[in-house]
Amino acid sequence: MSFDTEEASLSEPPRKVQIPSAILMSQKAWSLIREETLRAGKKETGGVLVGCRVTYDSKPFLVVVAASGAGSKADRQLYTYAPEVEALQQALDQVCQDYLQKGVRVDYIGEWHKHPKGMTYLSREDIKQGQTILTDPDYNLEYGEIILPIATLAGKNSLSFGWLFGQSDDQPDGQESPPNGKGKDVVELHTYYLSQLHPEALELELMIWEEGALDNLLAEVSLLQSS
Ligand SMILES: [Zn+2]
Repeated sequence: MSFDTEEASLSEPPRKVQIPSAILMSQKAWSLIREETLRAGKKETGGVLVGCRVTYDSKPFLVVVAASGAGSKADRQLYTYAPEVEALQQALDQVCQDYLQKGVRVDYIGEWHKHPKGMTYLSREDIKQGQTILTDPDYNLEYGEIILPIATLAGKNSLSFGWLFGQSDDQPDGQESPPNGKGKDVVELHTYYLSQLHPEALELELMIWEEGALDNLLAEVSLLQSS
């Protein structure tokens, strides 16, 4: 098995970028999204996602190493929320710096937000905003792609989960077994993908990976990158 990064070539237009086979999200990022969603109750919230594109077994994947909340000064409402932009930028910079010290280059890779129960899809406005990000040079998107996950409270009887665990069949520590999470609200996450080639949002499979496994993969990727 071998890992390598998708060749980043500036002369190649982002149109050639292959749709990722799945999203690999760290357990830390998933926990943060889950907790922020539960804490927000009926209100909306969200945050940024930090990660990178990798190739594993000749297939492209998007890796999410970290997620932020909306910031302590965010304005959370029933159907909208306005994040504390400064806090988000700070969170993003911190993660990029931490990973750079490990020799791994990560960057802004998208944004997640919470929707009211049952609204597991992107709104027309969400898609429009996503398309604006795709073409905004300030975001400096190397592959012309972003992910826009939607988190919702699924209720205690829901069997629908937009996530799986990679590497192991065991439930990681601190996670309740979702289908039997009696009496507890559970969080559903639907991971939508937008690119300059596919501006209409595709839902991709989401796999939650243990921190260590994901870091090992990224370490191997960056080793190949520098060799
Ligand atoms: Zn929305």
